[in-house]
Amino acid sequence: MLIVMDKGAGPDELAAVVERIEKYGWQAKPIPGGERTAIGVLRNKGPIDPALFLDMPGVRDVIPVSKPYKLVSREMHPENTLIELKQGDNNSLRIGEGNLTLMAGPCAVESESQALEIAHAVKEAGATIFRGGAFKPRSSPYSFQGLGIKGLEILAKVREETGLYIVTEATDHEVLDIVEEYTDIIQIGTRNMQNYRLLRRAGQAKKPVLLKRGMWATMDEFLMAAEYIMSEGNNQVMLCERGIRTFTRHSRNTLDINAIPYMRQESHLPIVVDPSHAAGRRDQVIPLARAAAATGVDALIIEVHNHPEKAMSDGPQSLYPEQFLRLVEGLKDMNILL
Ligand code: PEP
Ligand code: MN
Repeated sequence: MLIVMDKGAGPDELAAVVERIEKYGWQAKPIPGGERTAIGVLRNKGPIDPALFLDMPGVRDVIPVSKPYKLVSREMHPENTLIELKQGDNNSLRIGEGNLTLMAGPCAVESESQALEIAHAVKEAGATIFRGGAFKPRSSPYSFQGLGIKGLEILAKVREETGLYIVTEATDHEVLDIVEEYTDIIQIGTRNMQNYRLLRRAGQAKKPVLLKRGMWATMDEFLMAAEYIMSEGNNQVMLCERGIRTFTRHSRNTLDINAIPYMRQESHLPIVVDPSHAAGRRDQVIPLARAAAATGVDALIIEVHNHPEKAMSDGPQSLYPEQFLRLVEGLKDMNILL
């Protein structure tokens, strides 16, 4: 339920509505807009009778919100959300302003020289955010699990040396604290999309969250996972489509392009696409990245490795640095990057 206030409604009228919402045991979430304020009603168990608020001074309209997710929905927040990253006093980056942000780097941080070499190459090509896992969720317990804290230290070094922002995954509740300390953006991976304890903890973090869609998740489940994060107070959430499981054998997953306009319509949160994990194979990454960019997504996250044939994870889907450069040039030719 969304209570829309009159343009001229004052703070007393707003406070009275909030008080009435709380009196019923629900939560009030004022959403200031350009012209008027709306108040979202959260934590109600069933439908609410609009008449409870329509008679109050300053209330213009009461709109039932039909979706199970509220904070995430565009009904509650019509303007696009911007994610703002800062380094020092005069270096900042905004995601969601209509331009395309490029996040690139290896699947996993393997060594300082590997990370720095790739970071310099992707920066040169036009990336502004460096990706790289320090804690890796692997399908096999025998596969490389990441360098852990050492990997985070390397990522900090990459930021210091290149000025790139960092996105890296928090694989569980215990490592989230340390990941939050080092990174600029906390990644929640596909396998953890319904790890509700982790989502709640990410919602208490002071850093933006890049939430990947579960490889089996419906859009409602995905948006409800984002709702978990936002319900704890973190509004800085990005939705990342990374491919879902289908019957195909010609790719590791299927990039759900349909999800992009759907998310745009349903939610105000920035949209990120990961063509690398969708494809699982290098030859499909550039076409998928171009397709996603053409739909107007806010960011792409792409795996790039200086020696993919020796990579400790996801080598077959990692672009060579020169391929990443070619992709960026192609996006410029499409007038997507100016
Ligand atoms: C990754 O980004 O390397 C990763 C493991 O992604 P996902 O959770 O989408 O599989
Ligand atoms: Mn990977």
